[in-house]
Amino acid sequence: MKNNKRESRVVIFSAPSGSGKSTIVKHLLGKYNNLGFSVSATSRAPRGSEQDGKEYYFLTPDLFRKYISEDKFVEYEEVYDGLFYGTLRSEVERIWNEGRVVLFDIDVKGGLNLKKLYGDNALSVFIKAPSLEILRERLVKRGTDTPEAIEKRVDKARYELSFEPGFDKVIVNDILSDCLLEAEKTTESFLSRSTTKQTLK
Ligand code: 5GP
Repeated sequence: MKNNKRESRVVIFSAPSGSGKSTIVKHLLGKYNNLGFSVSATSRAPRGSEQDGKEYYFLTPDLFRKYISEDKFVEYEEVYDGLFYGTLRSEVERIWNEGRVVLFDIDVKGGLNLKKLYGDNALSVFIKAPSLEILRERLVKRGTDTPEAIEKRVDKARYELSFEPGFDKVIVNDILSDCLLEAEKTTESFLSRSTTKQTLK
C-alpha cells in the first residue's frame, strides 16, 4: 500500500552467501507493496542481464570513491576484495518519500551498521542455512563457484555466523516454504507496529 505519509522505517535482511536471502527478499517484495527495495551502488561490473538502476547502480571505482568522499553513502563495505557495495542516502530518501518502508538485501556487516543507525525504526533479520555442511552442499549444487571459491564462501560464512546475536531475528532456511512464512510473519508484525517516537519527531 502506497501512501502519502513519509516513512522512516527499514527492514534489513542479511545472510552468509548461499543462505537464500535474495529469494526471501524477492518474495516479500511481491507480497507487500509498501516495501521498497533499496537498490545498492556497487563498483563491480554488471552480470548477465543486470541493468543499471534495477539490480544495482553500477559505478566506476573512481565514482564510488568520489561518492565516499562526498559522504553520499549511509553505509558501504568492501564485500569482496576490491569490490565495493553501498547504500546511497538518496535511495533511502526516495523510498521514504514515496511512503514506503525500505527493504535491504545487504551483507552481514552492512546489516549490523544499518541496525545501529536506525535503531527501533529497523527490523534486522539474519538468514542462515541449517549448518555449514548443508551450506557447502547447496553451493556445490548451485554450480556457480569453483571448489576453492566454495571453501572461501564457507569460511566467510563461519565468520559471519559470529554476528548472528546482533540481529533482532534469526531464521533458519531449512525448508524454503517454512522460511518464507516465518519471514512474512516477522515482517508483518514489524510493519503493523505503530511508528515509534523517533518516527514522529
Ligand atoms: P552480489 O555481487 O552477489 O550481487 O552481492 C554480493 C554481496 O553484497 C551480497 O551479500 C549482498 O547482500 C551484498 N550487498 C549488496 N548491496 C550492498 C550494500 O549496499 N551494502 C553492503 N554492505 N552490502 C551489500
